[in-house]
Amino acid sequence: MESSFCVNKSRLSLETGDITVQETDAIVNAANSSLMGGGGVDGAIHRAGGPAILAECKQIVARQGPLPTGKAVITTGGNLKSRFVIHTVGPVWRGGNQGEPCLLASAYRESLKLAGEKGLSSVAFPSISTGAYGYPADRAARVALAQVADCLNKGQNRLREVIFVLHDPHTFEVYQTALNELCLSA
Ligand code: ADP
Repeated sequence: MESSFCVNKSRLSLETGDITVQETDAIVNAANSSLMGGGGVDGAIHRAGGPAILAECKQIVARQGPLPTGKAVITTGGNLKSRFVIHTVGPVWRGGNQGEPCLLASAYRESLKLAGEKGLSSVAFPSISTGAYGYPADRAARVALAQVADCLNKGQNRLREVIFVLHDPHTFEVYQTALNELCLSA
C-alpha cells in the first residue's frame, strides 16, 4: 500500500513495508536511550545494518551519555542502502498526561533538524513509540504528520521526500486517516 501527497515543493508519502530496505538518504530508528539496540524496528535496523552502527552508538553514549527522550543523533548506515541512521527516542505512553505529545513531536522535529543540517534530501520514518512504547497509533500519527508537514512547509532545508514506512496495514490505515484529516483542516 502506498499514498503520496505534495507539501510545499516536497513529497510526503505513506507506505507499508520494512524500513531497513529503504533507499532514502537516512532512515530513522525508534531507539531507546541506551542506543544499544533492542526489539522491534531498532533490532531490525541493527541486524540489517551490521556492527558499524552499534560501534558508533557506543561512542556517542561514551561521549554524551544516554540519549534523552525527544532527542536525536546520527550515525552511519553501515550495510544499509541508506547512508545514515538517525536514532531518536520517543516517549513511553503513560496515559497521555506526562508530556508524551510534546516529547513525540520533539523526536520527529530533532530528527528532521539533523537531516536538514546534513543537507539530506530524503528521510524515512517508522511509526515512533507505537510498538513496545504503547503510544496509541491514531494520536501518534497526528503528531508525526503535523511535525513533518510543518517542517516541509517551512522549506528551510533540502528535504524533498519524507516517507513513513509502516510495518502493518492497520498502522498504514491509521496514518492515512490522520493525513486526510490534516489535509482537510489545512
Ligand atoms: P517503540 O519502542 O518506539 O514503540 P517499536 O520498534 O516497538 O518502537 O515499534 C514502532 C513501530 O515500528 C511499530 O509500528 C512496529 O510495528 C514498527 N516496526 C517494527 N519493525 C519494523 C520495520 N522493520 N520497518 C518498519 N517498521 C517496523
